[in-house]
Amino acid sequence: MPRPVVDILMYHSISHQGGPTSIAPAVFADQMAALAEAGIPVIRLDDLLAARDGSNASRGHKLLPEQSVILTFDDGFRDFAETAFPILNRYHFPSIVYLPTAHIGRAEAWRGANSPARPLISWNGVRDLAAEGVDFGSHTVSHPDLCALAPGVLAAELTRSRAVLEDRLGRSIKHFAPPYGRADPAVRAEIARHYGTSVGTRLARATTSDDVHDLPRLEMFYFTNPKIWRQHLRQQGGPYLLARQAMRRVKSAISMPWDAA
Ligand SMILES: [Zn+2]
Repeated sequence: MPRPVVDILMYHSISHQGGPTSIAPAVFADQMAALAEAGIPVIRLDDLLAARDGSNASRGHKLLPEQSVILTFDDGFRDFAETAFPILNRYHFPSIVYLPTAHIGRAEAWRGANSPARPLISWNGVRDLAAEGVDFGSHTVSHPDLCALAPGVLAAELTRSRAVLEDRLGRSIKHFAPPYGRADPAVRAEIARHYGTSVGTRLARATTSDDVHDLPRLEMFYFTNPKIWRQHLRQQGGPYLLARQAMRRVKSAISMPWDAA
């Protein structure tokens, strides 16, 4: 594994709502406690971007620790503010939340009919968290599958969500997460015109040589077993990750576990 390595953790809801996009609060609390115990620095996406900037390719290796973690939360569920943030704050861990701007203050509209719609944070809640140091990125306006959109509609989803967030928060918005992790090369090229980074759902550890518009993440639903998570943090999770990656390749033709995310 080339160094430095950055584990970009992917969360959605921290709740008892069930399914692969909800992680129980006690499990999340234990995952964060293990991270703190391991002493692995939690950095911001801006730090990763800064390490990549400049003409000297080796510069990032000096700026980033050998092993670090970035905490990402898709969708902006209200339980981020109520449950996740107090735990993150305990350890002073930075985090980024990706917001679908048309759904703020409402409930998700994209979950399967058999599952209850989880409420999203309000704009006041977003502003309060921003004041506490939480970063925000765009998760589009309406949470569509970007690969299914006409080019003009795609551009509007990218630019309008950024404009709304910048207007509401008074800061520049540089980071993006495509809904369902769906982004083909044409979509990624359009995202790259408007954002400094984009994440996906490719299951892998990130390095400074990754495409910043196709950053892999670790789906934390796969690390709810405390022993497996601690093994991973000790850099002993290679075989488990390889097995998960192999299973994903087999299953990807059928469906993805976060298709309802
Ligand atoms: Zn989403």
